[in-house]
Order: sequence, then C-alpha cells, then structure tokens
Amino acid sequence: MRKNLMLLEELQELDLKIDGRQGERQALLDQLAELDRQVEEARLAVDGVKSELTVAEEEKRGLEANLAAEDENIVRSEARQKEIKTQKEYQAILKEITAAKKQKGELEEQLIQKTGQVEQLAADIAAREGDLDSLEENLGDRKAELASALERLDQEIASDASAKAETAKGIPASLLKRYEALRLRRQGVALVVARNGNCSGCNMNLPPQLYNSLYRGDDLVLCPHCQRMLVLRQDA
Ligand SMILES: [Zn+2]
Repeated sequence: MRKNLMLLEELQELDLKIDGRQGERQALLDQLAELDRQVEEARLAVDGVKSELTVAEEEKRGLEANLAAEDENIVRSEARQKEIKTQKEYQAILKEITAAKKQKGELEEQLIQKTGQVEQLAADIAAREGDLDSLEENLGDRKAELASALERLDQEIASDASAKAETAKGIPASLLKRYEALRLRRQGVALVVARNGNCSGCNMNLPPQLYNSLYRGDDLVLCPHCQRMLVLRQDA
C-alpha cells in the first residue's frame, strides 16, 4: 500500500497541476470570448446606425417627392390663374396657391432637417467604422497573444496528462477508480496529508488509532470526516 500511496500522491499533485492549468485555460478562453464580444457589439452598433440612415434617406426621398409635387401644384395653379374669368374663381385659386406655398415652405424646412440628420448619421457611421477597424486591429494583437498562451498551456497540460497516465499505470485499477470518484466528490482533492494529528483536507482531528494504521502503511486509511485518502508526513 505504501508504494500505491506514493504513486497516488504523485497523481494527486499532477491532477492539481492540470486542474490549475485548466482553470488558466478557461480564463484565457473567457478573455478571447470577451474580445470577440466587444467587436461584435461595436459591429452591431454600426449596423444599427446604418439602418437608421436607411430609414432617414427614405424619408428624405419622400420629402423631396412631396416637395416636387407641391411645386407642380403651384405651377399648375399659377397657369390656371391666368385663364380665370370670375373674381370668385380667382379668390379660390389664390387660396390654393397660398396654401401650396405654405405647404412647400414647411416641406423645405423638414427637408433641411432631414438632410442634416442624414449627414450626421453618415458621419457617425464613418466614425464608428473607423473605431471598429482600430478596435479589431488592437484586439488582433491581443488575441494572437492569448492564442499563443493557450497553445503553451495546452502543451503543458498534454505533458502533465501523459505523466499522469504513466503514473496511473502503476496503480491498481480499483484503487484508481476510488481515487477518481473521490476527486469528483471532493473538489478535485482525493488524497491529503495527515499532519499534527489533523487531516489537512478538512482540518479535523484524527483519532490516534487511525494514526497507528497510517504508521503501519499496510491499508488504505480514509479521513473519518471528509473520507479523503490519507498519507502520513513523518515530520508531523
Ligand atoms: Zn478530512
């Protein structure tokens, strides 16, 4: 059992190392995802302003068409004005022309505003697209850094994993299975050191008779409180 425990201790160390690196790996992946999210957010914002521009341009064309129609009305009414026979008809057409000119003035005012809005939106898009380009450029460098860090980490994890496989070969399958099951239930830590009369996994006091078994090293000894496998430190 002593040899098995030594191998298990080695395994536990490797597993904790791998777990730590997996944590780092996930953090890098999260950072990469966050960078992608930032770019996507900026791109969506540009798309949003582009749709606003499309609507504004359409409205502008509508105003221009209305304005042209109003111009035609005025020209037509003024032409008719010359052929008018009665005073009553004259008054009516004058009223029409006045109303059309008033309408034209309002449309011109709206068109000026709409044109200003279109120009502002176009400028906004240009600025946002410029920002997006530089964002993508900056993030490109950062992403390359993260990718190479990720690659390094993957290599380390692979080498730890092969060391783990090598160590595991020397451990009986049933013991290995127990170890892995314990690791799942105990936050990745299946095997801990007994030190100063305590289990270093849960810090609870260990009964003296259990220490005797640990000294003998013949059997697998579990902490009665957290059920983790125990190994003895002689300096304890
Ligand atoms: Zn314990």
